[in-house]
Amino acid sequence: MCRRCGSLTDQWLVPLTDPHKQFLAHRSEIDQAIRRVTDSGWYILGPEVENFEQEFADFLGVTHGVGVANGTDAIALALRTLGIGLGDEVITVAHTAVATVAAIEQAGATPVLVDVDPDYLTLDPSLLGEVLTSRTRAVVPVHLYGQAADVTTIRAFCDTHKLAMIEDVAQAHGATWNGSRLGSFGDMAAFSCYPTKNLGALGDAGMIVTNDPALAARARHLRQYGWVERNNSVEAGVNSRLDELQAAVLSVKLRYLDQGNTRRRVIASSYQAAFADTGWLLPHSREQAMEVFHLYVIQADDRQSLQESLARRGIQAAVHYPIPVHLQPAYASRIRTSASMARTEQAAKRVLSLPMFPELTDQDVTTVTSAVRAIVETR
Ligand SMILES: *Cc1c(COP(=O)(O)O)cnc(C)c1O
Repeated sequence: MCRRCGSLTDQWLVPLTDPHKQFLAHRSEIDQAIRRVTDSGWYILGPEVENFEQEFADFLGVTHGVGVANGTDAIALALRTLGIGLGDEVITVAHTAVATVAAIEQAGATPVLVDVDPDYLTLDPSLLGEVLTSRTRAVVPVHLYGQAADVTTIRAFCDTHKLAMIEDVAQAHGATWNGSRLGSFGDMAAFSCYPTKNLGALGDAGMIVTNDPALAARARHLRQYGWVERNNSVEAGVNSRLDELQAAVLSVKLRYLDQGNTRRRVIASSYQAAFADTGWLLPHSREQAMEVFHLYVIQADDRQSLQESLARRGIQAAVHYPIPVHLQPAYASRIRTSASMARTEQAAKRVLSLPMFPELTDQDVTTVTSAVRAIVETR
């Protein structure tokens, strides 16, 4: 526990992530933004939300942003906005946060999970044909760890088969593909602004974006009881609103997103250089992509002993994700998958995320690389 500020995150010499440090880095602007909201008396769906929705859409190069309560709701509401629900199948991956799959079921649809490609651990587009049925309505590529899924090939498949594409960009705010921001390729895209994400609020928050004004309008209705106006529901909706407070905080954080992502890439290249001869599979990027390293994930056969050795030296590492979704108790034996899920199951045994966030100091990075050198040399 930090005696000065009460934060619980300094039990590690170098933590995996530290949203509190990011708050401290921008504290005066954030405090000012919070004060503006508390003084305004307007707390839900007001000028701060409208302003952030437009700023975020402009940042991505799309026309519409719709603030919602969290990233899971953003995916579920995007699906519902596109008219996808009961009886419809939606294809995504098992190597992702469970939220992606939970969101598809929240919309009432049936998730179908395919394996990932071995190099980037994102949806393998060559498997889409294998699981396609007459009920398939959409594909949800996940831009995992800040690395782009192959949206060009996935989009082409969707166009051929008249499917919607909804990008899950919860881990890739600001990343690009052929020079355009991820989130601008799908019919709709969903973002999470959970505190540890590249663009993180001080609580839960999410965004849906689209270039289609009719879809944006429908998402706005659905997020608030299906209201077209107060107390007049045109269709059955939900309550999934973005707070004014969180929107105001996100407006401040958005100004520093590109800078933070650049810092993440600098840290990644220090890691890359220091780990070159470890024998691990290091993250590498598709040539069309500029990645944003939400996580820095290596693949190692000795994952567990490595994680333990790092912990003994005060360095936090974690596994994203230890159990593929199709093998978790809630989903096992009832979710359809591609015939082979071997690469997903293999990745779950080998992946390890090392400390990665913009506020890591050069000293922190050296602490990590020195520890790794010491561990590798004594194994
Ligand atoms: C964080 C995350 C989500 C869900 O976001 P919440 O805001 O926690 O609901 C969805 N997909 C992926 C890939 C995520 O990392």
